[in-house]
Amino acid sequence: MKPIHYAIAPLQPEAHLFAVTVTVDDPDPAGQRFSLPAWIPGSYMIREFARHIVRIEARTPRKGRSRSTEGAAGEPVALVKLDKHTWQAAPVEPGSGPLTLSYEVYAWDLSVRAAHLDATHGFFNGTSVFLAAEGRQDRPCIVDIHPPQGEAYRNWRVATALREAPGRLGARRYGFGRYQADDYDELVDHPVEMGEFALGTFKACGAQHDVVFTGRVPNLDMERICRDLKQICEAQIRLFEPRTAQAPFLDSNRRYVFMTMVTSDGYGGLEHRASTALMCARGDLPVRGNAEMSEGYRGFLGLCSHEYFHTWNVKRIKPAAFVPYRLESETYTPLLWLFEGFTSYYDDLMLVRSGCIDEAQYVALLEKSWNGVLRGSGRTKQSVAESSFDAWTKYYRQDENAPNAIVSYYAKGSLIALALDLTIRSRTAGKRSLDDVMRALWRRYGRDFYAPGAAQRGVTEAEVHALVDEIAGVRLSTQLRAWTEGTGELPLAPLLRGFGIETQARKPGRTAALGIKTRAEDGWVRIAQVLDGGAGQAAGLSAGDLLVAIDGLRVTPGGAGQADKLLARYRAGDTVSCHVFRRDELHALTVTLAREPATEYKLKLGEARHPVRSRWLSR
Ligand SMILES: [Zn+2]
Repeated sequence: MKPIHYAIAPLQPEAHLFAVTVTVDDPDPAGQRFSLPAWIPGSYMIREFARHIVRIEARTPRKGRSRSTEGAAGEPVALVKLDKHTWQAAPVEPGSGPLTLSYEVYAWDLSVRAAHLDATHGFFNGTSVFLAAEGRQDRPCIVDIHPPQGEAYRNWRVATALREAPGRLGARRYGFGRYQADDYDELVDHPVEMGEFALGTFKACGAQHDVVFTGRVPNLDMERICRDLKQICEAQIRLFEPRTAQAPFLDSNRRYVFMTMVTSDGYGGLEHRASTALMCARGDLPVRGNAEMSEGYRGFLGLCSHEYFHTWNVKRIKPAAFVPYRLESETYTPLLWLFEGFTSYYDDLMLVRSGCIDEAQYVALLEKSWNGVLRGSGRTKQSVAESSFDAWTKYYRQDENAPNAIVSYYAKGSLIALALDLTIRSRTAGKRSLDDVMRALWRRYGRDFYAPGAAQRGVTEAEVHALVDEIAGVRLSTQLRAWTEGTGELPLAPLLRGFGIETQARKPGRTAALGIKTRAEDGWVRIAQVLDGGAGQAAGLSAGDLLVAIDGLRVTPGGAGQADKLLARYRAGDTVSCHVFRRDELHALTVTLAREPATEYKLKLGEARHPVRSRWLSR
């Protein structure tokens, strides 16, 4: 099969433009079609990346010349746009040579999902920049990654898990030059970072891992990050492959790359088959000489742990609906509670099992996620299976009503994993656990996913349920179905008690509350959310209202005028008047204050030494 040849160059970093070409040696004689994905795997929202294509044209070589050089002049070929992300070239005579599409992509989205380019660095996902040659997505791809022109870019390097191509044109490690992928699916699963980044390297179970930070971070403690990540990665590799300790990405690459963009307040990550693109806040990263485990650094390690766990769970063990990915439109699965929720359970669990945090810190994290889920009344209306299915229009497009209408398949999914793990351990006297379920999923669906010639198969809901029953050796699928398809509360308190963790009951709050969430805006207070069943909703307060006064006193975002402080002089049942601007009209509403919702659960570690708990939380 003739490969598809891509080339990408930062054309004008200051204008945020990448120049891209794609060349097809034997285009479809009926008119070759090209298309760009509408979404990127791992981020379940239609993003219509093709809207950032600025200019596009197609050419074949000039007659009498054997082969065009990329981007060089040739015979123009008419290009018709068929829909928002598909173009069709006019039919060319067979043998008229390769067809080359040239286009520019505007790259100014500072996230892990798209592309970003300026004079300080470049980053792209293939889904934002590489048009697929339709009908030829299974062909090998070669991609030439060029540096920007100019002395200022002399020290730029390249970080990616794409494989360097062999031969004279092949890139050297961390260099510009030629890279390769087995097919389009692989090409767009290896994001690329370029610039003057900080680079660290470590081996986990013998496999190379690179750690890349872009952005200014004075006194970054790279050694500590590598040390901690090594522990986490090894714990995960040993969880899935206790016998061989073989890293999962060796099927497509020899190494794994953590690439992180550092900003003042960034947070996020996206998983890939041999790398992850991350964003974090500068303050979360450790400073040389300070060994303290800050909440921010713990969060960063949790994020790395989460994305790394995806290397098994969703990049190889996949929902049936994602095999193959259909990137032109929404792809529905009810199983994100397994792929995101269970991954969220294991991300923190791996921190305690690898020794990065202790049992008390782990229990504090459990308490936080449990209370987070309990705070939204959306959990009584939407199941995690429904939340998964509707991720495209609900979870990823949250509005002011989200807490009243949506449950997170991440947060509640992680609690379901916890409940399932503790149930299996209790019911089998510690002989089996959720680890066995994950290993079975890995052996049956994941391990050979990218093996040459393997029949790629995703897992269905029914198969997950059957597998849980089989591996646990007790029938738990009815229970699991109730947790994932229902909206009842999870029996976490009795389960945790069996592992030496006591739950302190929720008590109703003592103070009066409006039942709203607010945000500061230019020294004023805007109502962001009105919670279902609260006093504010009953009185007619609405999201978007500017809350100016409570009983005639000005409400301010901070200081003595904060709503909570003003309300501290009242009791539940008292009546107050609230002045709000809705649009530009002033309204006075009478609110009968309600009791603050029940306070949160507290989790407490029982005896310091608890063998059953140790088996769960130690490696
Ligand atoms: Zn995830």
